Amino acid sequence: MKGIVFDIDDTLYVRQDMIVAAAEDVLGIKVIDPKEFIDIYYAKSDINMDALEAGKIKTRDINGWRYEETFRILGLPFVPGDGVLTADKYLELQSHMSISEDMVKVLDAFKADPAIKLAVLTSGKSSHQWNKVDMLGLLNWFDRDKIIVTGDAGISKPDVRLCRMIEERLDLDPKDIWMIGDSYRHDITGAIESGWHCIWINRRGIGSPEIKSDIEVATDEELIKVLKELHKSLS
Ligand SMILES: [Mg+2]
Repeated sequence: MKGIVFDIDDTLYVRQDMIVAAAEDVLGIKVIDPKEFIDIYYAKSDINMDALEAGKIKTRDINGWRYEETFRILGLPFVPGDGVLTADKYLELQSHMSISEDMVKVLDAFKADPAIKLAVLTSGKSSHQWNKVDMLGLLNWFDRDKIIVTGDAGISKPDVRLCRMIEERLDLDPKDIWMIGDSYRHDITGAIESGWHCIWINRRGIGSPEIKSDIEVATDEELIKVLKELHKSLS
């Protein structure tokens, strides 16, 4: 029996395109280098995660701040308040989010295999992340009690206690569990420290840290290919 644990954001669905599209819509401009925009926005995203999870800051305000910081650094034309408007636009776009057809097939195959147990480990505020679980239809593949939201747990990634919780719920040893995630700091370091295997989705081509993940992929196509190979190797 093996366990496969997925992060949600930018792992089961890709939000990067929506983050840029929201800014283009509100500012009425074309972002020249979307990758650079995302790099800056994500660098700002790590700063207040603990306070966000503790409910000390509202998601709308912090995302608004992240956007305005990104606009400022890139020299984009904005007025104060455009950040939260962009955050609102992003939420609107996000309400149409879905899992790719290829990922659906992969999840279907995992779910149909009695030798595989599935789980989700996701960062963020409880209501937001559960809302995504609903919108993406994740209960089709994941049991409710195998979905852990850090906002519910009261601890943040990459705290290994989260991995221990998953091990307990899956009733599996660390060596039999694979973590699939896009954030090296949040998804991969905790998994490595816990003795799990991992696949790192390194879409932004960040320089490889010293401690390596088992497998690194750069694109969604590669991710799907690797997940299929992983499935074959596990069964
Ligand atoms: Mg993620």
